[in-house]
Amino acid sequence: MAPMGKILVQKFGGTSVDRPEHRKLAARKVIAAKEAGYDVVVVVSAIGRLGAPYATDTLVRELRQIDAAFPPHPREMDMMMACGEIISTAVMAVTLQSMGRPAVALSGGQAGIITDGAFGNARIVSLHPQSIVNALEAGITPVVCGFQGVTTVTEESEHGSITTLGRGGSDTTASALGAALNAAAVEIYTDVDGVKTADPDMVPDATTLDVCTYEELAEIAHLGAKVVHPRAAEIAMDRGIPLWVKSTFSDHPGTRIVADSDALEHVRSRVTGVTHSGRIAFIRLEIPNEADKPAVEQEVYRLMARADVNIFLTSFSPTAFSFAVSRDMYATARDLLDGMVVPVGADPAKRPASTLYIFKFLEGLDLAYRNQRPLLKSLESFVDVVDVPGTAFENGTMVSVVAGKHRQVPGVMATVYETLTEAGIPVHQVADSESSISCLVPENEAEHAVRLLHAKFKLGDGSR
Ligand code: ADP
Ligand code: MG
Repeated sequence: MAPMGKILVQKFGGTSVDRPEHRKLAARKVIAAKEAGYDVVVVVSAIGRLGAPYATDTLVRELRQIDAAFPPHPREMDMMMACGEIISTAVMAVTLQSMGRPAVALSGGQAGIITDGAFGNARIVSLHPQSIVNALEAGITPVVCGFQGVTTVTEESEHGSITTLGRGGSDTTASALGAALNAAAVEIYTDVDGVKTADPDMVPDATTLDVCTYEELAEIAHLGAKVVHPRAAEIAMDRGIPLWVKSTFSDHPGTRIVADSDALEHVRSRVTGVTHSGRIAFIRLEIPNEADKPAVEQEVYRLMARADVNIFLTSFSPTAFSFAVSRDMYATARDLLDGMVVPVGADPAKRPASTLYIFKFLEGLDLAYRNQRPLLKSLESFVDVVDVPGTAFENGTMVSVVAGKHRQVPGVMATVYETLTEAGIPVHQVADSESSISCLVPENEAEHAVRLLHAKFKLGDGSR
């Protein structure tokens, strides 16, 4: 292998390649890096956002529209979704060629990106970037499809199925390629100057961070800032690949992502930013008998797991048990729970059980309860039948303050809570992790809450 220069991976998101002028700006970033002596590997997303003819969401809609009652198979869905990036690599490669720079478009499979078979949310299992290396050695810029890979060829399967990596997957492609090629750096180009202290659509005076740790980036991404996919931050962190978030449309230096050990103390202990995420329903179940509560809860966990309903933000009081589910799973969760009967024996060896707990949602949502309950009537002479009333707060969202060492700074939690409640924003639940504090608030208060917290912690441009 001829010795190669330093490799730089540059990833361009949907808005960076949506129009000829934008693609030219993107191509200029590539050319500038080449002129600075890098071997550049380009990764692109599909062209534009929903509504644009080749945007991923548009392609998805095309298949879904065939028959509303017939959900497309995930395999064909991935085949369809992968088209967006195939189009944009061809367009970007030809753009570079037209500007006098040899380039070659590569699909995920051609770039050697091998994934597992989880259509729609596949994981990269190995990377064999020989074609990328060959192109670079020949002085040709590879333009690789983000967001996609292929499964390996096996005896029983076809010659590799096309898979996609889930939302934000192009970021993951870029980081994974950076790791596999031992790149000097990975640059994520987007339509904002870098990682900001809040979603700039909600908080116009959000500050662009000049430095941010991998942990901070992963946390704000997990908690809703869609600027970079959390998986991409994690891969880069694990492999120690320098990462940048920059704008295609400006010469702003962007945000440099560094290891925690390389960050200055003020970075490591600061409040990083405020995020919001998710459409959440919060379910509360009253279990009147404290002694039986663990057994009833366990049954709820089991039921939800069996139905693939992910539960989070769980909390407990002596006679209540609450948890959150994503809004799209709320109806499923409620219908599973309503009318469910959990037998609990005072002595597990004794039969029949001595108490039957039956779940009941609010009037109108308790259809199953009303069918089941009369059936238990005949048992009531030898078992207790106890109602477990369920209530739900359907229109919630999570607002989070990301702060590296908040547990070592007294009062952060109190400040968050007081700021929201004093402004009349009901906080339904509070949860914290190593580096964040999250509050479940009504969805229509999200913007207000984000702005208040952003101002309270003085994160705005010019306020620090
Ligand atoms: P791309 O298509 O380039 O991948 P995305 O839409 O995935 O772009 O991510 C960039 C967008 O993320 C920005 O336009 C911005 O509105 C949004 N965003 C949300 N939170 C943040 C944040 N904390 N910092 C920067 N951008 C953010
Ligand atoms: Mg993105």
